[in-house]
Amino acid sequence: MNRTLKIFLVFFLCNIFSRYTSAQYTLLKPDRVFDGESILEGWSVLIKQDKIEAIGKTLKIDSVHTVIVDLKGTTLMPGLIEGHSHILLHPYNETVWDDQVLIESVAERVIRANNHLRASLKAGFTTLRDLGTEGSQYADVGIRQAIEKKIILAPDLICAGPAIVATGSYGPNKFNFKTPQGADEADANNLIQVVRNQIGHGVDLIKIYVDFRWGPFGKAMPTFSIEEIKTVVETARSSGRDVVAHATTREGMRRATLGGVSTIEHGDEGNLEIFKLMKEHKVAWCPTLAAEEANLYYRGWNKKQDPQPEYIKNKKITFKAAQQAGVQIIFGGDVGVYTHGDNARELLLMEEYGMSPLQILQSATSGNAEVFHLQDRGRIKEGYLADLIAVKGDPIKQLNHIYQVELVMKRGVKFQ
Ligand SMILES: [Zn+2]
Repeated sequence: MNRTLKIFLVFFLCNIFSRYTSAQYTLLKPDRVFDGESILEGWSVLIKQDKIEAIGKTLKIDSVHTVIVDLKGTTLMPGLIEGHSHILLHPYNETVWDDQVLIESVAERVIRANNHLRASLKAGFTTLRDLGTEGSQYADVGIRQAIEKKIILAPDLICAGPAIVATGSYGPNKFNFKTPQGADEADANNLIQVVRNQIGHGVDLIKIYVDFRWGPFGKAMPTFSIEEIKTVVETARSSGRDVVAHATTREGMRRATLGGVSTIEHGDEGNLEIFKLMKEHKVAWCPTLAAEEANLYYRGWNKKQDPQPEYIKNKKITFKAAQQAGVQIIFGGDVGVYTHGDNARELLLMEEYGMSPLQILQSATSGNAEVFHLQDRGRIKEGYLADLIAVKGDPIKQLNHIYQVELVMKRGVKFQ
């Protein structure tokens, strides 16, 4: 090989090498962008490290330091934000809740959680608000710390720790003796201490159960008084944390709203009056439709063949009342009751119950980010985190495309 050829080869190889090693930017070129608010046809997104550098139809790029990713045939969106998960639970038709809480070791549950997180991220869910470890104490906080240390690439977690219940109002409860419970018990005399103890363990928010099936004949009835709820909220708020409430009864929802919680989970008995009260107090509603349907499947209901159970008919009326009242509806399916990674099941049900795909995807991105005070994500916007997904086709035209995820990026790093 002569000298000129050698020099040329070295130069050529160095050029290729530097292109791939010193690439500081990634340009994503989908057919369209859903920025968390609306569809932008023909737009591209430029990423620098873990953040969005620019977004637009024609972007100026430094061709030497930019890797171009062709995403033809897809819609690029913000990573989805699950509003109600339990990564330390798995479907109840695999193992009933009591046995998960009492028999499975925390080690087994954490190892399962690792799989659950992987499945969630693969499906496009880059942040999860996880609402209760159900007997695994603060395992969620430990997992969140492992994610922050980059030990695993997983969705970000917003953790509730063990959750708080009124004494005697939770489970497991079908034994003749008191077993360890799936949440921390507390009442008026020690609520402040229990809330502060959870804060000290590193939870991001406090979850309380303001009602439970502890009435006569197993009827759902309220637990905490408004005063008790106010005590929890005041204690949590002074540390900068929100309180979320499990509530299925109308009275539970009313007390939680007046007590100052930020979101109400389930809300089965909500009506126009309650939802208007919630709107007035800026309380958002998380309907958890998918978990409730899953529980009916586990009891033998076949959606394709069987008539609609009363419960579903009523929940559809509740959903309409919430829309009519204009309360903010957040996306959260209570995943864990059903399979992790199948989070989008809730999105499709929100459409079946009466929301448009655009409203649903706004809820799962910018809407949830706003309610959960996540100012760095949920939108494709300059300076926001590069937590992005590309799905086939246009999910605003056909929502079930949300299942066809072709790219998942967390902090600018491609997953898989
Ligand atoms: Zn739940």
